[in-house]
Amino acid sequence: MMQTALTLTQMINRAEKYFPKKQVVSRTASGIKRFTYKEIAERTRRLADGLETLGVERGDKVGTLAWNHHRHLEAYFAIPCSGAVLHTINIRLSPQHIAYIVNHAEDKVLLIDSDILPLIEKIHSEFTTVQAYIIMTDEEELPETTLEPVYHYEKLLASADDSYEYPDDLDENAPAGMCYTSATTGNPKGVVYSHRGIVLHSMALGLVDGAGVSEKDIALPVVPMFHVNAWGLPFAAVWFGTTLVMPGPYFTPKLIAELIEQEKVTITAGVPTIWLGLLKELDEKTYDMSSLRAVLCGGAAAPRGIIHAFEKKHNIPFMHAYGLTETSPLVVISNLKSYQEQLSDDEKINIKAMQGILVPGLEMKVIGKDGEIKWDGAEMGELALRGPWIASEYYKDERTAEAFKDGWFYTGDVVTVDEEGFMKIVDRTKDLIKSGGEWISSVDLENALMTHEAVFEAAVVAVPHEQWQERPVACVVLKDDYTGKTSAEELLQFLEPQFAKWWLPDEIIFMKEIPKTSVGKFLKRTLRDHVQKDILQRN
Ligand code: AMP
Repeated sequence: MMQTALTLTQMINRAEKYFPKKQVVSRTASGIKRFTYKEIAERTRRLADGLETLGVERGDKVGTLAWNHHRHLEAYFAIPCSGAVLHTINIRLSPQHIAYIVNHAEDKVLLIDSDILPLIEKIHSEFTTVQAYIIMTDEEELPETTLEPVYHYEKLLASADDSYEYPDDLDENAPAGMCYTSATTGNPKGVVYSHRGIVLHSMALGLVDGAGVSEKDIALPVVPMFHVNAWGLPFAAVWFGTTLVMPGPYFTPKLIAELIEQEKVTITAGVPTIWLGLLKELDEKTYDMSSLRAVLCGGAAAPRGIIHAFEKKHNIPFMHAYGLTETSPLVVISNLKSYQEQLSDDEKINIKAMQGILVPGLEMKVIGKDGEIKWDGAEMGELALRGPWIASEYYKDERTAEAFKDGWFYTGDVVTVDEEGFMKIVDRTKDLIKSGGEWISSVDLENALMTHEAVFEAAVVAVPHEQWQERPVACVVLKDDYTGKTSAEELLQFLEPQFAKWWLPDEIIFMKEIPKTSVGKFLKRTLRDHVQKDILQRN
């Protein structure tokens, strides 16, 4: 067979050639705008030309600090297709971490949304490699800024050449993108994505037994474009000619519901917190959600209660998936097997509450106390992965040695696998609770609590214990209508029939809010410190 390069260039070229009329619907600071793929492709070439004029060369890193919108999408292709590296920066990280990763990645140019300017102005004096800033704005003129040299995105495009041609000799193994993932301690760790990895990952997103993304879809990536490339959806969507709906800055559950209704979205993707918010909105107001064929949920465990509410109350198909920044991210996805469709509704939801089976193209092994675990749904072990869209190292980081061994990536996630090959995340290795030498899964307790009608959110953490080393404590946020009306005893009684006695939390603490990471996951470390301090003070 021929060895042709799998590069991103073929994706944007295909959208322009075969789907010039298909649309990108982009919500920006000044409202909703519509572009055809023909326009997007032309603007993308202009951006590539503009970046070249600013001195961006092959292998240079170009950082983006931006929400999900059409300009960010153009950067997704202009940068890698011209041979440079798209570095998406998480705008919710601390200013110190942003400065660290801009310097560590050695970004040459930064593309910045105008509302993120104040954050960058505070830290730009620490940048050691940045030579130019491009501001993405709908306004005709640039906002006042202390950054320099600074360019207006639209003016740069207007003065650029749309006959620009992408190089045709890009190596498929060359870096196309990079993204930093938060570490539990220390600085974020960088992951570099190759053209080949992104192309093959997009292929997996398009498989019917993957997420089944196709030309017929109208896709709304709610997951930020700075979080593992919005799970790769923008790449797959452009390649397949899928209509893209970009939710833009500071969206709310109401806005997401309106976008789904108005644009007739068929597939959307985000973390459980987003879907909890949407469910609340759907309880308050009626929207037409009938266009949805999949709500893709990952990034943290989807509680059974959320799945039940989507599927049974609102008749919206729910798709649970799992992955990491290091894995592009798609690893497993919870599609029922044909013969599982005959099971009862309850059994089917139980299967969907697991993260799913491995997508074609990857390999996994699960290492327990005594080597590889049995597929019995009970034995636990750490998940290790390998495959063409799994990272092989952290970018210039000695922590590579901890996670990458013998050609495998060790995820740090503890899982079980059942007889059907469905994987269930039990915990992060660091979040498991070890009570009297036995493991308790915080995720199982959280999921059970979140099926109680009064509970909005629940997080379970370990607290040190003299006799048992560690014991679980649950932090619970009640739904507004139940605040003050539901007791800890009631919740414990609810858990009792579902777990061994020693699994039950020693205490249930009611809170207004559970602290979350920049991408909406429970901040377990902060919560643990907070709970431990609280208990110490009381004793
Ligand atoms: P990130 O690199 O920020 O995407 O975080 C990856 C981590 O999120 C994984 O190592 C898991 O601990 C967690 N995670 C992702 N998806 C799921 C899921 N569906 N269920 C449970 N945990 C998940």
